[in-house]
Amino acid sequence: MPDIDFNEINEVIDSLKSGWLTSGPKVKIFESNFQKFIGESTHAIAVNSATSGLHLALEALGVSFGDEVIIPTLTFTATAEVVRYLNADIKLVDIDPITLNIDINEIRKSITNKTKVIMVVHYAGLSCDMGPILAIAKEFKLKVVEDAAHALSSKYKGITIGSLQSDATVFSFYANKNITTGEGGMVVTKSKKLADRIRIMRLHGIDRDVYNRFQSKSPSWYYQVIEPGFKYNMTDISAAIGIHQLKKLPSFLKRRQYLANRYHKLLSDLPLVLPKDDMENGIHSWHLYVIRIRKNAKLSRDELIEFLSDTGIGTSVHYIPLHRHPYWKNRYQLSNEMFPVADHIYKCMLSIPLYTAMTDQDQDLVIEALHRALK
Ligand SMILES: *Cc1c(COP(=O)(O)O)cnc(C)c1O
Repeated sequence: MPDIDFNEINEVIDSLKSGWLTSGPKVKIFESNFQKFIGESTHAIAVNSATSGLHLALEALGVSFGDEVIIPTLTFTATAEVVRYLNADIKLVDIDPITLNIDINEIRKSITNKTKVIMVVHYAGLSCDMGPILAIAKEFKLKVVEDAAHALSSKYKGITIGSLQSDATVFSFYANKNITTGEGGMVVTKSKKLADRIRIMRLHGIDRDVYNRFQSKSPSWYYQVIEPGFKYNMTDISAAIGIHQLKKLPSFLKRRQYLANRYHKLLSDLPLVLPKDDMENGIHSWHLYVIRIRKNAKLSRDELIEFLSDTGIGTSVHYIPLHRHPYWKNRYQLSNEMFPVADHIYKCMLSIPLYTAMTDQDQDLVIEALHRALK
């Protein structure tokens, strides 16, 4: 649930009055502030969704027909679909039963001479163990892209997600993400070459963007098309929201941490597996709070979801693993047995409400309902 106040509203009004509706000064400011948040020697490129950002990152890395991209099965379909946009193929792998992130041993087993990229997902906001993943990538000369749609403000061993040594990291500002711009995303990379390519490809393959055309000394009508690019730029209206959302990110994180801690404490007496917190100086962004029902519980997952729904509590399942969706299943002849960990966890998992505007009283209702259902 988005957490918006008068700051975002006034900034959007300012955009509407200024005449800059598409990518303009506010996108520049948002990119610059975001880049500063992530860390030195990074480039930040704003786009209209994380899906667009993932597509642009893979395109810039040269992913094309015949290539394979390794992806965890427990993710949203966007992570995988962008590989197909480029006519390349995915190689789905199982997850780790404790972190629910990609299983590193399975990555190693899935590498073939077609493998080009390892795409990881920091599931729910818990960082993948990036040290070994980056080491495998180096050993086999592979690229690494981080789908960090859940992981804005997460840290891996003290390092902010987005500033590790992977090739590109992509964040989402969809309405339910840790900060929002309505729709939007950001690609972060340490490579200037990659950043330049992504900047050009996000706007029709034109070698200068509209704002630059009005700022620079050469005539404003002049530009050159160097590729058939995409229409993936962020609008100033979105950036207006993002500028203020980003300022509130530290307080948003605190609230999410507080609520997650409260769930840990107050649900610990129930037949549930509670999510693992980060360790070793890590920070979990708590985008999702995913619980798993133990075998000995009175209710099944589906029954619990129905019980909570009857009580007025909305929950969801993140995600139906990709190997269970017809398109992916048929294209790669996948079966549930090929992903025993993700498949088992899928059947007993659900995400319970956690959002920054949630009050302690809102949370108490969820905690009480879970006790009534499971105690
Ligand atoms: C939300 C999400 C995306 C897509 O983000 P958009 O900004 O909506 O394109 C991709 N991957 C994961 C894991 C997500 O949760």
